[in-house]
Amino acid sequence: MAFNVAIDGPAGAGKSTIAKSVAAELNFIYVDTGAMYRAIALYLIRNGIKADENAKISEKCKEAQVSIQYVDGKQVVLLNGEDVNPYIRTEEVGNMASASSTNPDVRAQLLDLQRDLAAKNDVIMDGRDIGTNILPGAQVKIYLTASIEVRAKRRYNELIAKGMECDLKEIEKDIAERDERDMNREIAPLKQAEDAVFLDTSDMGIEEVKNTIIDLIRSKQ
Ligand code: C5P
Repeated sequence: MAFNVAIDGPAGAGKSTIAKSVAAELNFIYVDTGAMYRAIALYLIRNGIKADENAKISEKCKEAQVSIQYVDGKQVVLLNGEDVNPYIRTEEVGNMASASSTNPDVRAQLLDLQRDLAAKNDVIMDGRDIGTNILPGAQVKIYLTASIEVRAKRRYNELIAKGMECDLKEIEKDIAERDERDMNREIAPLKQAEDAVFLDTSDMGIEEVKNTIIDLIRSKQ
């Protein structure tokens, strides 16, 4: 049976950095579900759809076929066959993903893809509703968070390192809005699963978080 690790938490908590490095160390597949929502968001933006046009989102999202490939261990998200990894990391796409992921049709579209990957592979899957909704039977569940100031600063550093222009206060505001939407939406809101381990990484380094999670996984294997 495949071994499943679910990592949920708010934007900028370090989920992807940590999940990637734990997956590499344990030879698991890393599944970034946020990237899937971002791919659909990109499709909507490209088609001129606005974040509040719910009926149009329901209709248009059906044309966005999202699939995943792994190239040299790295997840590549395909949108109707196109590698969209270079286009999905902007704040514009992130904000659209946060808005459009409240739509039930968008969520329904990605559910099978996520469950199927977890059924066939040992995965570390990160997102917002993995432990609560997508993989309720995951052997290890972690709720990873950090203070909003720390999360905004991390995202700021990430974007600056990629050569993107950004403003720290603006990012903090975006993150606060995204948290609010992700935690209070009707369908699959972000919340800690009852059986998830809570990890606040505000004062922890990457190695420390990584080793804590690896220990947790090994104790359940
Ligand atoms: O994690 P990331 O910032 O890439 O996710 C983008 C947006 O996609 C999130 O703000 C969230 O609204 C949505 N998302 C979701 N469920 C997931 C993963 C992401 O609703 N499992």
